[in-house]
Amino acid sequence: MGFNLFKNGDQLFDEGVDLVKRNDYQRAREKFSDTLEKEGSENKKALARLYIALIDTGSNRENIGYYKSISALLAQHNYGTFEFGLSKVPADELQVECELAVIELEATKFNGDYMEKGQKMLAAAQRYQADIGDRPLHFEEMYKGNTNATGSREALILQAMAYETMGRGAVHDDPKQGAEYMQMAYNLRRMIGDSGEDDLKAMKAYARSGKCWLCGRPISGEGIHFIAVPSPVEGAFRKADEGKMIKSCSEDSKSIYMCMPCYNAISNRADQISQKYYDQSIQQMRAMEARLEAEIQSVRSSIIMVRR
Ligand SMILES: [Zn+2]
Repeated sequence: MGFNLFKNGDQLFDEGVDLVKRNDYQRAREKFSDTLEKEGSENKKALARLYIALIDTGSNRENIGYYKSISALLAQHNYGTFEFGLSKVPADELQVECELAVIELEATKFNGDYMEKGQKMLAAAQRYQADIGDRPLHFEEMYKGNTNATGSREALILQAMAYETMGRGAVHDDPKQGAEYMQMAYNLRRMIGDSGEDDLKAMKAYARSGKCWLCGRPISGEGIHFIAVPSPVEGAFRKADEGKMIKSCSEDSKSIYMCMPCYNAISNRADQISQKYYDQSIQQMRAMEARLEAEIQSVRSSIIMVRR
């Protein structure tokens, strides 16, 4: 009987391994979970625990806790090089990847100062380059069969994200600096084969300068520090703006530039005026309603009088 139980645990384990090869992770997870309940070889049980952690991580790659669980399992047992589906995974290399995944996720999820966040991402990028380099990432191979995702490529992606983060943050105080970061992000995106279109667009917008039509203040950063507001610029006005280094209107002369303080002041004042008219209208409607109600009452009374 003991022998049957012994065989049962290991059999379940082997079935789980087959299911992983067929990418049927949910059923595989159940088999591994059952393996732990039955008697069987300790080595297979240890592997079953690792497989469960790997399957969980595959279902949610953003969960820091999952990588920490794998890391803890790898530290407890000597797994050597194990198989996961079609991948052969050296445990020590996976341990490094787990550590880096935690550092990377902590950096990308960091919710604070943009420069600090950018620096954290750059530090993670450096680790990917130094510790993994041109070797393909096991996690990507295991879950996606992707062998193009190397440590170096991950480092470039993280650097691009870092400069995008710093660019979007810097533009508020220093548009030129913001544009420089976006330029760096764009170059990095191109290196990994992305179009980098969004970065290029942001870079151009941050670098573009305009002069407020209202107050005359020049400022860089279209869409951030100044915006184009529809208002056709014609005749003498159009001529006056021609040939100027910093324009006060859009290239097609269909909009004027307004700096954000002017734009906000006008918008806020317009809101106040609308609110006043809205309140007045409501008041007048209520008065009219009361008058109508009174008239209806008087008509009703007259009808009753006539019927008598
Ligand atoms: Zn202005």
